[in-house]
Amino acid sequence: MSKGLILLAEDDESSLDILQFLLHQWGYRVITAVNGKEAMEKSDSIMPDLVISDVMMPLATGYDLCNHVKSRYKDVFIPVILITAKSDLDSKVAGLNIGADDYVTKPYSHHELEARIKALFRIKELHDELIKSNKELVELNQKLQKSLDENKKLQAELEEKNEQLLQLSRHDGLTNLYNRRTFYELMDNELSRAKRYSLPLSCIMLDIDHFKSVNDTYGHLAGDFVLNKVAKILLKNSRQNDIVARYGGEEFVLLLPNTNSKQADIVAERIRKEIETTGFLFSDHKIAMSISCGVGQLFDEDEDKNMFLKAIDEELYRAKRQGRNQTCVREDI
Ligand code: GH3
Ligand code: MG
Ligand code: MG
Ligand code: MG
Repeated sequence: MSKGLILLAEDDESSLDILQFLLHQWGYRVITAVNGKEAMEKSDSIMPDLVISDVMMPLATGYDLCNHVKSRYKDVFIPVILITAKSDLDSKVAGLNIGADDYVTKPYSHHELEARIKALFRIKELHDELIKSNKELVELNQKLQKSLDENKKLQAELEEKNEQLLQLSRHDGLTNLYNRRTFYELMDNELSRAKRYSLPLSCIMLDIDHFKSVNDTYGHLAGDFVLNKVAKILLKNSRQNDIVARYGGEEFVLLLPNTNSKQADIVAERIRKEIETTGFLFSDHKIAMSISCGVGQLFDEDEDKNMFLKAIDEELYRAKRQGRNQTCVREDI
């Protein structure tokens, strides 16, 4: 197997013949050129692994050839050995400065030349491996970047799904109001805040009157429609900081921070009146609805969540007992 392809440029025919013969003997394939121009043209059409060139040649010098090869094959390492009779230091430095990799002066020992060629081939091999590893590294880096990007995307999707799940777990599926569990959680915060800063905190519990008959008369879908509409009316009549939740089937609850029972009563009545005067249009039916409300303010420091809710629930049932479509307010403050 050939050890590599060498471009040999030499205008002196006998030197050319000897060198060509030796290079073959050492196991290399050889392309020859007898002047600088021919060497450049040959280096353009076939990429050599190494160039051995005389310096003084017709049409173009060995320096020109060296320049030409180095700039033509920028990404590959093609070692260039210049051979010349000039033994002075200046021309050696000039040759190395323009990018030649080695310099041999005539007369030279054949063994020395062979050793120099071998050394340059070893460097070339390392160089080629380095370029290959570099290329692999760049590819690996690109793959890594791609999977990082994909990971980022997945992470974002996961976060979005989690957000959706959280939203689902905290809200009622039909009305999208807070569910009972979330209401309890939020109520804990409001209760401790009200107590810590001695702020009033009010609660409205409301239950749709004779709701069962809506289902019975117009169907379950009509019932769902009414529940949704009522939820919207509650949101419309509450403030940003109020907590509005679906407490049970057709029962809702509102927690009003920084609100006393008198103000809460006004809110409850506003809601009750709006529901009373709203014709709930479902299909061809205009369904009249009403609600009963229990309203009250947190009694004192010692009252806990259950006591507070029980008191408001009692007001709601008082409203039911007294004939529905009305608001009963806790009197104990
Ligand atoms: P009252 O005035 O005493 O409150 O009478 P009511 O008919 O409203 O109360 P009742 O407790 O007898 O009936 C409540 C009904 O609400 C029964 C139940 O089927 C219905 N319901 C509960 N949840 C839903 C729901 O999500 N959708 C529908 N369409 N109906 C529901
Ligand atoms: Mg010459
Ligand atoms: Mg009811
Ligand atoms: Mg009920």
